[in-house]
This record gives sequence, structure tokens and C-alpha cells, in this order.
Amino acid sequence: MDAVLPFIYILASVGFVLAMKWMNHPSTARRGVIIGEIGMLLAVIGTMLRMEVVEYQWIFIALAIGSAIGVPLAYLMPMTSVPQLIAISHAFGALASALIGTAEYYKITPTPSGFVMGALSAETLLGFLTTTASVIAFGKLQEILPTRPITYKGQNVVSFIVLGGAVVLGVLMTAGMADPWMYPTFAVASLLFGILLVTPIGGADMPTVIALLNSSAGVSACAMGFVLDNRLLIIAGALNGTAGLLLSIIMCKAMNRSFTNVLFGAFGQVQVSTGGAAAQRPVRSATPEEAAAILDASSTVIIIPGYGMAVAQAQYKIREMYDLLTRHGVNVKFAIHPVAGRMPGHMNVLLAEADIPYDKLFEMEEINGEFPNADVALVVGANDVVNPLARSDKDSPIAGMPILDADRARTVMVIKRGMSPGFAGIDNELYYMDKTLMLFGDAKGFVSSIVKELGSSH
Ligand code: NDP
Repeated sequence: MDAVLPFIYILASVGFVLAMKWMNHPSTARRGVIIGEIGMLLAVIGTMLRMEVVEYQWIFIALAIGSAIGVPLAYLMPMTSVPQLIAISHAFGALASALIGTAEYYKITPTPSGFVMGALSAETLLGFLTTTASVIAFGKLQEILPTRPITYKGQNVVSFIVLGGAVVLGVLMTAGMADPWMYPTFAVASLLFGILLVTPIGGADMPTVIALLNSSAGVSACAMGFVLDNRLLIIAGALNGTAGLLLSIIMCKAMNRSFTNVLFGAFGQVQVSTGGAAAQRPVRSATPEEAAAILDASSTVIIIPGYGMAVAQAQYKIREMYDLLTRHGVNVKFAIHPVAGRMPGHMNVLLAEADIPYDKLFEMEEINGEFPNADVALVVGANDVVNPLARSDKDSPIAGMPILDADRARTVMVIKRGMSPGFAGIDNELYYMDKTLMLFGDAKGFVSSIVKELGSSH
């Protein structure tokens, strides 16, 4: 059996590479997920057939426990909670990697070679810190923990001392020292660093943090591949590590942030006071009938979906509205901000689910130049990603974040339930502009009413 194993592993690796490639575009994403799953199935079957695996009962018990947790989680968590789901999945994956490293450390006697011990230190350090960091990220996204950055004086110094301590211990163990206190202290310092790393980071930076944790879990798995001499783990871990890193770079660019600023900038402080002030300022509002009439009379409409569309599950009604407007001769486009919603690609997934044609979806850089010529920018449950304060107020928490230029359209219409701020917790200047009409209501309900009007108007 061991003779065919390399072929199974090569096929699995090809599956992973193709999955990465195909998941790059909504039209091939489904295929990408399926090929990735087939790759993983091959990897698991291939590994179970290895000569070293002599007993299956513990594996099946673990499989049953894992499935009993994983399957309900996947089905019960709503689409809007996928970031939390990803965070907790990283925690489990990283914990598995760290525990395997720990088992190897205590199993390998005499002390392993410097190279293996170095890889093992990297595996367990990253594994443990990713575990606790992901649990904190989960807590913040699920709002079990405060989403604002929790900071204290000298926190960066404390974090660096803890990380430095773990790294020094890892180096000493790699150099051959093996005092019994060393490994447990190293593990505790790594776990502690994960907590210290994420606690001071605000909720608004969680997308980048999750992508980074994805990367660190991947690098941990890659190092585990060197410890166990398993090439598939090296390949899969490296793919995961680089994909996570690239995604976090893209996310940082989308929010105009640097890594150091994300990790040590304590960004995302919720500015509660602005919410109070916001309630006092006058806005113009409109009814579904008025909104439908304006949309129907337009030649170009750009729809900007955001988190509220996901909450309301309004994508199907938006599809109906798109169909009617298109039939009435209106040119309808969708503007997608890279961090709209609560996970990268969130809007693409939802709009694809409702069969909105992919060629009507435009990235921020492609569509921003078109807003001045659009008759209407229709914002559906988006807030931070269209907040002009990002451009004008350099003290704003979202200062410098590239936004969709909805405010440059001739008329702006915003569907949301009230005047609550978005994820970054700040007020939105867009709502108070003379050309802005607030369409108050649940996104699905409001769009349904517009659809009804459009349907009866011709
Ligand atoms: P925001 O969170 O800024 O705003 C969403 C708006 O939707 C709210 O103002 C809310 O207003 C409205 N809303 C909520 N429910 C409904 C509903 N049922 N019907 C109508 N409106 C509703 O969303 P954006 O998409 O603009 O921005 C995303 C934010 O999330 C960014 O700050 C980003 O950094 C952050 N983030 C992004 C992640 C990602 O990977 N994409 C992950 C984690 C955070 P009201 O309550 O008044 O209705």
C-alpha cells in the first residue's frame, strides 16, 4: 500500500491547488470547494491506509466526536456567522496541530535532531497561539467578549516579553536542552501570547486577524509535516499559510491598514457618543412607492449590498428587483466592497446564491469611476463601506479605508432599519447629504415593497 501512497498524495495536492485556483472566482467557486473536498478525502483515506496505522478504533471515535460537533455547527450557524465558524475551526485545527507536536515531543526519545525539534517548536508555538487567538476572535465576533480593543499600559511590552520567552525556550529546546519544566512553560507562554495578541484588537480588524490566523494555522501544519515527515501536510500547510497571508494582505489594502497597525494599533474603538449625536440630525426619508418611481425613471442604478442585506437575506428580493428594473430598460450594476459584510467574498456568495449574473458584479476599483454618472446609488444594508468620513476625517477609526463612492452618485438611497452605526461604530455622513433619501425598514421587506410597486407600474 505504501507504494501507491505518493500517488494518492499527489492527487490530493493537485485537488488542493485546483481548489485554490477555482475558488478565486464566483463562477468556479463551487467546483473549487468540491475538488478541495475530494482532495481532503483522498488525503484522509491515503493516510489511514499507511502501514504505521495499525488500529482504527481511536481514529473512528475521534471522527465520530469531531463530526458530532462539526456537522451541527455547519448547519446551525447562520450565513452571517461564518466568520465565527471559521475562527473556531482554526482553533480546532491549530489545537490538533499543537497536540500532535506535544505528543511527538514526549514520544521521541532520545531528544530529536535539531531540525525536527526546530520544526516541532514552530509547529507547537504557532499551534497553541493560534488556538487561543482564534477562541478570542470567535468570542469577539460572536459578541460573547467585548468587540472593542481591550488595552492597558505597556501591553505591547508584556506581549513581546511573553512571545520572546516562548521563542527563547523553543530555541533552547532546539539546541538540545530538555529540562522537564521547559516544554510546559513554552506551551503556556504560547497559549498566553495568543490571548494577548487578539484581546487588544478591535472587532473591525477581525477579518484581517482571521486571515492571519488561517495563515499561522497553515504554517503550523506545514511544520508538522516536517516533524512527521509527511509531504502532503507540508504542501497543504504551505498552501494554507500563503493563501491566508495573501488574503490578509488584500484585506489590509482594502482597509488601508498595515499589519503592524492592525496587530498593535488598538483600532475599532466603538465611538458610542457619535450615535447619540446622530439621532439629533435631520435626514430625508422616502416611501417604497417614491423609491420605486425614482429607480424606474433612472437609466443607471448601482446597488451596494452590505451586511444588512445578509442579515435580512434580501438577495432573492434584490434579484427580483434587478429583473424588473432591467426589463424596464434600467442599467443595473452591483458594487462589491472587499470587506462588505462579515467575511471576504460575503456579498459575492449571497448574490451568486440568488443567481445575479456575475458580469453585473464589479469590484471597488472597477466601479468607483462610474458613480458620478449613476442616477442612483442604492445602498442595501451597507454602512462603513460607503462612509465618506473615511476620506475626509483623518481622525476617524476608518480614516484612509477605501470606500465605494456612493456619495458621488446623483441620488443616494439607503435601505436600513434606523440610524444605528455599522460595524466600526461610527456615524455616517452619507445619510445627511441633501441628495440622500433614507428608506427605513428591513432590507427584505423594503425591497419586496419596491418590487411590488415596480411590478404594478408597467
Ligand atoms: P456595516 O456593519 O457597516 O453596516 C451594516 C448596516 O446594515 C447597519 O448600519 C445596519 O443598520 C444595517 N442592517 C442590519 N440589519 C439590517 C436589516 N435587517 N435590514 C436593513 N439593514 C440592516 O456593514 P458594511 O457591509 O457596510 O461593512 C462591513 C463592516 O464589517 C466593515 O467595517 C468591515 O471592516 C467589518 N467586517 C468585515 C468583515 C469581512 O471580512 N467582510 C469581517 C468582520 C468585520 P440598522 O441597524 O440601522 O438597520
